[in-house]
Amino acid sequence: MTSARYRQIGAKMASFQQVLPEYLKQIGWSTKKIIPGERSFMLELKKGFFEKATIKVRGVPEDVYVEVDGPAGLMDVVEQALANSCANPSALTGWKEQEKQEAMEMAKSLGGISPTPPTAAPTPVQPQPPPTPKPKLEACMHCGAPLTYNPEEVLVVCNYCGYVNNTTGEQPPRCSMLPILLTSSQTLEIAKNHVAKGILVTRGMAERAEWGAIVLRHVPNWAVTVQLEGDLEGKKALVKAKDTKGQLSQEVAMQALGGALGSIFGGAGKGAGKALTDRTERVSVNETMDVLVVARKAAQYQPDVGAYKIPLDRKAPFKKTGEETLNVEISAQEAKEKAKGLALQELRSRYTFVSQFDVAAYPMEEPELIYAPWWFIEYRMGGRSFSVIVDACNGSVIAGQRPWVPKGVI
Ligand SMILES: [Zn+2]
Repeated sequence: MTSARYRQIGAKMASFQQVLPEYLKQIGWSTKKIIPGERSFMLELKKGFFEKATIKVRGVPEDVYVEVDGPAGLMDVVEQALANSCANPSALTGWKEQEKQEAMEMAKSLGGISPTPPTAAPTPVQPQPPPTPKPKLEACMHCGAPLTYNPEEVLVVCNYCGYVNNTTGEQPPRCSMLPILLTSSQTLEIAKNHVAKGILVTRGMAERAEWGAIVLRHVPNWAVTVQLEGDLEGKKALVKAKDTKGQLSQEVAMQALGGALGSIFGGAGKGAGKALTDRTERVSVNETMDVLVVARKAAQYQPDVGAYKIPLDRKAPFKKTGEETLNVEISAQEAKEKAKGLALQELRSRYTFVSQFDVAAYPMEEPELIYAPWWFIEYRMGGRSFSVIVDACNGSVIAGQRPWVPKGVI
């Protein structure tokens, strides 16, 4: 069962219960029964001969609670319908993000896990009216041309000469870029294949999806080398779980398995079951890790966990091209902090049952800024626009389903 709570989104309950069955129909679910209501409603669903699901919704426009008893992917569609039936869709925090936040809270209260904040901003950040709208630097330090930029941005590329200006007036960091090796039509094929692999999507749906704009953007990434040193005590994970929730469920599953073996083998077996969970090892850690931090804050630009590895061997010195180049919103200092957390998380994810985690992370040398060319491809499905992001250098899919960011709205 999946559940989520949506606050301050100005939900229109009447239109939500009206459009939801339509959305569900598009992915093959028929509504068997609906119990409508002003403050709550319930849908009973059927798909084919065997699959059944129930959706319960209750609340007021500013506080809606949704419960889905059925395949987890259903929640995505419910969210799409809700986003299209509310006054303030940008305030909607997705159920996956909510779960991640909860898992983080849980992990923190259990201790033993580095207190890293979630790496992605919880909701797509809308350009907000800046509190102090005065830019720090007004002219390019290299050619003197006027600079216009968002107050959030800390490194700004000059539109005339391509110099990377530090808005504090200090020296810019070391900057590189990666070459564009994929054409837009090659990229479109990759994107279609990726969308067709989606859990809720058939190849036919991917073909029928409306494929729209395709835009290339150079997205800045900080490359930080982090040194990890210390000791830990744990058990090597069978499967590397990148998120905290995955780690916890793996640990719970192993414990249950241990317990089950214990009861199967009776008294003596109890030891066997226990041994399974007790087989921890002490490891002394001494390694360096290359960590990438996307230098943009909006959730749309964050890669899916584990999906992005920068092809560092292909980098060349930065030179402004005709393509859109995004400015940097995360300073080198912030990137170092973030990278420490990410490196610790990565290390932690290789183990379950961590009983001791005494590892320190040190960023080595100054981070380098790498502008990576990413293709953003728009597609429309179920009445909404999404984007697939594909690395234009090596063709890997960086993110498969993000709200579409139109050109110029960045
Ligand atoms: Zn300039």
